[in-house]
Amino acid sequence: MSITNEPEPISNSPLSVIIEEDSWILALAATKLLVKKKGNKFYIPKYKDLKGILTEPGLKYITMYEGHTCYGERLKESFVPGENFELIEIREITYLTGNPEWFMIAGTANHILHWYSMNQFCGRCGHKTYEKDDERAKVCPDCGNIIYPRISPATITLVKKDDKILLAHNKNFKSGLYSLIAGFVEPGETLEHCVEREIQEEVGIKVKNITYFTSQPWPFPESLMLAFTAEYDSGDITVDQTEITDAAWFNADSLPDIPSTDSVAGKLIRWYRDNH
Ligand SMILES: [Zn+2]
Repeated sequence: MSITNEPEPISNSPLSVIIEEDSWILALAATKLLVKKKGNKFYIPKYKDLKGILTEPGLKYITMYEGHTCYGERLKESFVPGENFELIEIREITYLTGNPEWFMIAGTANHILHWYSMNQFCGRCGHKTYEKDDERAKVCPDCGNIIYPRISPATITLVKKDDKILLAHNKNFKSGLYSLIAGFVEPGETLEHCVEREIQEEVGIKVKNITYFTSQPWPFPESLMLAFTAEYDSGDITVDQTEITDAAWFNADSLPDIPSTDSVAGKLIRWYRDNH
């Protein structure tokens, strides 16, 4: 498909609609998003902005935003943005556009484009898969296997002890950044078991009174974060040194660097700080 002056359907799927001039385009090169630059301001481009820039588009429906369709497009990692465009890291979107909603929409595009790229062939028989007509799924014409977007649940927990909270430094964090203990749910586990196990494994303590707080999609590439609070029960902090290199109890008024409010960890830590 090529971009022309005339709108055209992107496929025969009912999930696809006619591309309008004002459709938003989330074009991703690895973890970077293509944005339009005007002076020192950044904007999410519309379809009409990208004519002649996207040469081999494979636009995928993502969601609706402000009355217009959002499409995702995977760019080659070697893609070079032209004049007035720039590739920015997804984690910088809120800061650079001033709109946290674009962070989640671009993240959702990342999730869906990742799913498409990982499911071009059937995992059961190896046949090429096709888009299902009536829902977001891929189907194998040979064995009938239907593949839906995968969502991997993970828990993240704020642990309280008296008037302090547990924060940990992960080896992949930038220097000085501390956050909550998180980890993927394993087969056969409840969410509460996952909370208990991750905290025990990573910092060696037992927790009790595990309480659900909120959830947040974390599409990097396909997680759903389920946030909890818990109370310290027993044990001394012993970091595993494989994932966590340091952990400690912090007072709400003397916190180290913490994640931004784009993440549920950042929101949960600030909620605690502002309420204690
Ligand atoms: Zn198959």
